[in-house]
Amino acid sequence: MQKICRSLDETEKKEYIIGKMNTHFIQTKDELETYIRLTEDENSWFEQVGEGALPLRITTYFASLIDKDDPADPIRRQVVPTVQELYKAGSESDDPLEEVDHSPYPRLIHRYTNRVALLVSDYCATYCRHCFRRRFTAKKDAVITSNELQNVCSYLEDHIEVKEMLLTGGDPLMVSNERLFQIIQRLRESRPDLILRLCTRVIATFPQRIDEQFIATLKSFSTAPIVVMTQFNHEREITIESSYAVSLFAENGFPLFNQTVLLKGVNDDRSTLVSLMNALVSIKVKPYYLFQGDMVEGTGHLRLPIERAIEIERELRLSLSGLAMPVVAVDLPFGGGKVPLDSSYYLGKTGEKTHRFRTLTGKIIDYIDP
Ligand code: SF4
Repeated sequence: MQKICRSLDETEKKEYIIGKMNTHFIQTKDELETYIRLTEDENSWFEQVGEGALPLRITTYFASLIDKDDPADPIRRQVVPTVQELYKAGSESDDPLEEVDHSPYPRLIHRYTNRVALLVSDYCATYCRHCFRRRFTAKKDAVITSNELQNVCSYLEDHIEVKEMLLTGGDPLMVSNERLFQIIQRLRESRPDLILRLCTRVIATFPQRIDEQFIATLKSFSTAPIVVMTQFNHEREITIESSYAVSLFAENGFPLFNQTVLLKGVNDDRSTLVSLMNALVSIKVKPYYLFQGDMVEGTGHLRLPIERAIEIERELRLSLSGLAMPVVAVDLPFGGGKVPLDSSYYLGKTGEKTHRFRTLTGKIIDYIDP
């Protein structure tokens, strides 16, 4: 494939450590206004936002995908804060998945027996307004320390039932190459068998971050699979640049899976989601999950009613191949875990060997066991 996106030059690569590449980021109202004219709701966020809120940060690349003339643009809705974020419903929480209660160490989450999540960094290239981990994201602009990592490694050595680790945050790819590879190296020393999932939104929001040198070094840690988990929420995020970043992983043997968040006004209709899922398959990314938004404070304006999510699952099942169909799921509050949102096609037994199903079109059909 011909190289068509701009890679970081040598100086930029050296500067590629947390907080040092501000020229690539929009972080103030003035900078944002050079891209778009703010709506009243967006303006109000800047006037009313207080300490501790998820800050504004958008890469100039991702901002360039916004249609300036459309205040309801789906890229814009994901990254430009509005005053609705400051309204919090009583049912919402800053930690609905109860990650803190399932953390043996501050940056380590152990909610399912066979896998853990490691919060490598709290920094992201672009802060998503639907971020479900906003209790942690952007709070310290800090990377895991060597002492914290040592505790995690000891824990992994004692818990061999853990087979997979999600490297997440924040975004683990917003850590310098040097530090990220030190972290992976240390994890590999403790557990060479551990499957690593690199969970990143950088491929969609800052694809220039990925280059051949990064991929070559990452490959050297593939004693056990390293799987890349992307987050694309709209087909317009699949550009020449992001497709090229994906191809660097895919052509070097890293499987890619995508987790989309179902977002009101962004992707809550059949045709948008069908286009997205098919486009993902075409660039060699398997649609894995389509998540109902978590019950996180300040995200109510972006969430859909559950009934609509179930309806969307049915619409997609009628429109997509098995390869392109993600699991539509909700991660339940109070740490209830993930539950698929299907239409409960199986209605139960109606005789000793008879099972009743409702088809996608609503017909009732019995299946008889031998
Ligand atoms: S990239 Fe992930 S952690 Fe960062 S703001 Fe978006 S959803 Fe939150």
